[in-house]
Amino acid sequence: MSAIDLIEPATGERLASIPKATAEDVDRAARAAERAFASVPCLSINTRDRARQLVLVIANQLRQAEEHPPAETRNVGKPIRDSRDEVGLAANVFEYYAGATNKVGGQTIPGAAPGVLMTFREPVGVCGIIVPWNFPIAITAWKTAPALAMGNTVVLKPAEQTPLTALRLAELALEAGVPEGVFTVVTGSGSVVGEALIRHPAVRKVSFTGSTEVGARVMQVAANDIKRVSLELGGKSANIIFAHSDFERAVASAPSSSLGNAGQDCCARSRVLVERSLYERFAPALVAAFEKVTVGNPLDDATEMGPLVTAAHCARVRSYIDAGKSEGATLATGGRGDGCFLYPTVFLDAKPEMRIMREEIFGPVVAVMPFDDEADAIRLANDSEYGLSGSIWTRDIGCALRVARAMQTGNLSINSGSSVHLEAPFGGVKRSGIGRELGMTALDHYTEWKTVYIDVR
Ligand code: NDP
Repeated sequence: MSAIDLIEPATGERLASIPKATAEDVDRAARAAERAFASVPCLSINTRDRARQLVLVIANQLRQAEEHPPAETRNVGKPIRDSRDEVGLAANVFEYYAGATNKVGGQTIPGAAPGVLMTFREPVGVCGIIVPWNFPIAITAWKTAPALAMGNTVVLKPAEQTPLTALRLAELALEAGVPEGVFTVVTGSGSVVGEALIRHPAVRKVSFTGSTEVGARVMQVAANDIKRVSLELGGKSANIIFAHSDFERAVASAPSSSLGNAGQDCCARSRVLVERSLYERFAPALVAAFEKVTVGNPLDDATEMGPLVTAAHCARVRSYIDAGKSEGATLATGGRGDGCFLYPTVFLDAKPEMRIMREEIFGPVVAVMPFDDEADAIRLANDSEYGLSGSIWTRDIGCALRVARAMQTGNLSINSGSSVHLEAPFGGVKRSGIGRELGMTALDHYTEWKTVYIDVR
């Protein structure tokens, strides 16, 4: 089998070699998952106790194995403290869904026919899961944990560049007694391994996180066999600052809500909309906050922002910086860096038609512009093909609720830069995706309803 070399983004050195799998390898994995689905007795006597045990084994491997955070940091380039948080979140997600195994069931329904009308919630079967490079282990958990908890089996394709934590987790799970075929990782390219997984006849459900363009392709390929599909795609979220907001908190939150994971975050608030009367005061405060962010060695505990994931991605982000300059926005700070590193970058006086305001940059770059009033803020925020996340900063509860209800987005925070709560649905509208992950809602993706009627006459 040929291999893929992984490059550590912080150093440019070779980090590891991983197998470059083929469609035949995907077939072996999917068939093993099919056999495991048939043999693991998750459904016997209508109990999911076995599924709960398997999910808890994986949670323990995340909690206890100390190698995951440094592996994630060296592979993705994210600061070590963020990797610790991400692995902790992944473990929490597995534990949450372990708790869900015995709380999701069918109903008895008062129908018109004489007898008993009831429903069961049954697993779908083999789930094909495709994960991106920005939060490799967290997104693996978001999809794998609810799938396994409901009694399915999983074949996972991590992003080509960032497979290390998912690979190690699957290995540890196997060593700890999770049967072969329950959770399998296949490494390789999207065009070969990803497509073979979506096309495989044993796969009944496809869950994808990544770019909108590839998401559309995933949906097209899955349509041939009427497979279930859920998509978590790109974003271009707005951070709306009203004049009557808590100024200090709004400024303090802006860096983390747009620079987390070096801005390689589908929820990044990369459009900052500031009420005109506050703009002259807010803009320099935001620039100063961005300049205080510690950029450096991601393995260092003090580092707040590391390098971007690959040289190719860094070049793509730099092309947006060039576009911002040539389209006439004012580069107030950043726009430079060595290797895969790029300093936090702020463009002021942006215009809605500029590419930096419309396209997902996926890097540490924000575009700032003023708005006139509440209606203008809503109009600008919704002037995007995406609709994933966003923030509103205001002390006026009426304004907060009016704007929140009017915004075309799947997730929103008021006076906060947070996006993800593992207990609540997460996902997007418009070109940001289909379906919701996390919370109990995610279990809908991984269960089929079956209706059974008993005639009692
Ligand atoms: P992609 O959408 O290309 O990749 C996401 C995953 O899909 C990877 O595992 C990839 O494999 C796989 N994939 C690629 N092509 C196919 C295919 N034809 N069939 C099945 N699977 C496939 O994202 P990129 O990594 O290229 O990033 C490009 C841009 O996408 C980013 O700059 C950002 O704008 C956006 N993005 C959004 C994310 C989000 O969280 N919503 C996450 C990642 C990216 P592989 O790359 O290994 O070949």
